[in-house]
Amino acid sequence: MDNKLLLIILDGVPWRNFRRLFGNLEGWVDSGEARVWKHRAVLPSISASCYASIHTGVVPAEHGCTGNGNVFRLGHKDVFSQVRDGGGVTGAVAHSFWSSFFNRHPYDPVRDVEYDEPESATINHGRFHSMTGYGLVNQMTPSDVDLFGTLTNLCLRFGLNYGMLHTCTLDCMGHRFFHDCQEMDHACFVMDEMLAPFIIKWREMGYEIIVTADHGQDERGHHGGRSPLQQETALYYFGDATGPAEDVVIDQLQLAPTILSRLGAPIADTMKAKSFLS
Ligand SMILES: [Zn+2]
Repeated sequence: MDNKLLLIILDGVPWRNFRRLFGNLEGWVDSGEARVWKHRAVLPSISASCYASIHTGVVPAEHGCTGNGNVFRLGHKDVFSQVRDGGGVTGAVAHSFWSSFFNRHPYDPVRDVEYDEPESATINHGRFHSMTGYGLVNQMTPSDVDLFGTLTNLCLRFGLNYGMLHTCTLDCMGHRFFHDCQEMDHACFVMDEMLAPFIIKWREMGYEIIVTADHGQDERGHHGGRSPLQQETALYYFGDATGPAEDVVIDQLQLAPTILSRLGAPIADTMKAKSFLS
């Protein structure tokens, strides 16, 4: 496998926050480096269910993850397993749910915090955090620059074809402070500025990049149900592929087959949605 792609998931960022507050990403849209579309989450628009759908390409009603309290090793084929099938190397820097879903469950905070398993059928190089103790006034999230640095480290050391990074910082900020406030303006601004130099570096390293969220958040910081604020986020794409018209809304189930098609990996029979890039 020669192609390389990174999927960056900033948890819980609604469409309006991406488009209003992420000046670097929006600047690259203006300059033609990136394209942006609206991306609609599955239902329930809750984190764990969305992570599972992003990577399996099937709805929660089919993969069975009904929410954050129902995390298990999924039975469906997913992006990691298909990249491995296609001969690629995979890595993840993410919340431990990703390790449970796609590698092994239950998550063991010693065994699974960091692993390098070249023979794995799913995740070869994993760096995970559990956010144990997370609550309204204690986010328990790592600094995002450390997460971006860790992914870059894995790319450089292990030649990842596919790397997935997920961070909960902005989802936690939204639950805590909601959205019409100085705290959220600043948190999005900081995330954009932290991410931007890594986008430049990853592009120089030959990666296509998708930056998106798992779901949005409404004015009270809520998500899980059906409303544009809860379900809709933005999806930014950096790369040479052709995409749809700018007013097309990308269905969350399209992410898995799109990523696999860009990498030249086999798309699983269960992934029925169409790639939005060609
Ligand atoms: Zn989430």
